Amino acid sequence: MGKPTGFLDYKRVSEGYQPVAARLKNYQEFVAHLDDAGAKTQAARCMDCGIPFCNNGCPVNNNIPDFNDAVYRGDWRAALEILHSTNNFPEMTGRICPAPCEAACTLGINADPVGIKSLERAIIDKAGENGWVLPMVATSKTGKKVAVVGSGPAGLAAAQQLARAGHAVTVFEKNERVGGLMRYGIPDFKLDKRLIDWRVAQLRAEGVKFVTKTLVGAPVGAPIGAARAGMPKGVANDATKVIAATKLMKDYDAVVLAGGSETPRDLAVPGRDLAGVHFALEFLIPQNKQVNSGAMDDKRGKKNPISAAGKHVVVIGGGDTGSDCVGTSNRHGAASVTQFELLPRPPEQENKPLVWPYWPTRMRTSSSHDEGCARDWSIATKEFIGENGKLTALKCVRLAWADGKMSEIPGSEFEVKADLVFLAMGFTNPVAAMLDAFGVNKDARGNAAASTDVDGGYATSVARVFAAGDVRRGQSLVVWAIREGRQCARAVDEFLMGASTLPR
Ligand SMILES: Cc1cc2nc3c(=O)[nH]c(=O)nc-3n(C[C@H](O)[C@H](O)[C@H](O)COP(=O)(O)OP(=O)(O)OC[C@H]3O[C@@H](n4cnc5c(N)ncnc54)[C@H](O)[C@@H]3O)c2cc1C
Ligand code: SF4
Repeated sequence: MGKPTGFLDYKRVSEGYQPVAARLKNYQEFVAHLDDAGAKTQAARCMDCGIPFCNNGCPVNNNIPDFNDAVYRGDWRAALEILHSTNNFPEMTGRICPAPCEAACTLGINADPVGIKSLERAIIDKAGENGWVLPMVATSKTGKKVAVVGSGPAGLAAAQQLARAGHAVTVFEKNERVGGLMRYGIPDFKLDKRLIDWRVAQLRAEGVKFVTKTLVGAPVGAPIGAARAGMPKGVANDATKVIAATKLMKDYDAVVLAGGSETPRDLAVPGRDLAGVHFALEFLIPQNKQVNSGAMDDKRGKKNPISAAGKHVVVIGGGDTGSDCVGTSNRHGAASVTQFELLPRPPEQENKPLVWPYWPTRMRTSSSHDEGCARDWSIATKEFIGENGKLTALKCVRLAWADGKMSEIPGSEFEVKADLVFLAMGFTNPVAAMLDAFGVNKDARGNAAASTDVDGGYATSVARVFAAGDVRRGQSLVVWAIREGRQCARAVDEFLMGASTLPR
């Protein structure tokens, strides 16, 4: 424990933000990491609890009190080693994780929790700046080959762990570039894409091979047009090649399915087909491509075909995806941005004794909301209204909620002017075609059915085929994807070798 009285002596200090006016001018990250002195005082606030609830609240079970102590002592390299022992990509989670560890922090019961996420980011940013993150190449090879389908955080974490265990790993990705939703969903102002390139370079140096623009699972000989057509509306697919599931099964000793949960939830109300109504990712993916177009090999779609400049934008759905549409629309120069949520407005503050150490339902305001957004809750959209095939307004109704059930409030209908609508209501399930091509069983929600048991976990109903991340648990968080990728890698290693020294 760094400083026994630290939690009494120091207040929580968050990382510095650029002012709204400055950050809206570009798509760059605008949060500065803590400096050494700031990190030391923030780490000093940790009480090194006998039972560190933070560690249990964190999906990858980061050894938080230990790295806090190392930062307090100024031993940054030890802090890095502790952090990397449980998390392959702290540069991602240190930026975009909602930090359930902080919700679980004991200090949070009657004070502000320890700034765990900002310490995580300070450690990995310092390591990056000093060149401390080096490839960890396996000293001996097993001769086993593993194919990973999907290059999001689950696929990348699984690939890195398996390569470090000595297996020959190839990652197949249908899109142009590696990274999954970290690359194409989450905007640059939350996560600089150079961080993904930096980490992928480490994976390559450790022996992981990447095959991009290659769709896995299409039937043998299917023309690329047919493969594209098999994608549900709103799912990105840059593939110019297809590879059959049967080929992967023939060429590899094991396959890890990490294809995410990409099917967006639609809103089947009158007017859905009007020009101006889009799935969120139809806006966010081209924007990410545009921002990074200098680095893209593929010149298609360099400019975002959807512009929010001067438009009245309505975002339907209150989660991360909706928030990213808000931030991107404001950077385009939207005339107004409004966000509607079906659920009731949550309380400003949770009832701590009732919910701690679990993730609380409470009002959350993202940095994108701070940049300008009118928000409203308990709203359902009844109809999209248009003229000459173009969206002009939304017809909405207010909802009453009782015992978890909603009902429309009679006479509460209203109209809102809108030129653009982004549907950000979550994702229902993985693309069934991929799972069907391997013949794996699905659960009731259409996800790949596989348990997380210590014995036999992550194995699907088909021998040698495993599943991890959103494809197994449904749309979730980057930190959960990393956890599943790591645990799945251990399960695959055990299956291939009879035993594994990889951490679970
Ligand atoms: C807009 C948006 C913002 C988000 N913001 C946050 C946030 O701030 N914090 C957070 O923690 N989480 C956030 N999330 C959720 C998070 O990004 C996901 O939970 C996480 O990326 C899931 O990781 P994954 O590896 O399971 O799948 P994904 O990241 O979805 O990656 C799956 C990959 O598999 C590829 N693939 C699929 N099928 C095939 C196939 N047949 N052949 C080849 N390749 C295939 C896909 O192209 C994709 O690249 C956000 C999600 C969205 C959409
Ligand atoms: S729960 Fe909070 S105070 Fe306790 S060890 Fe974890 S970070 Fe430190």
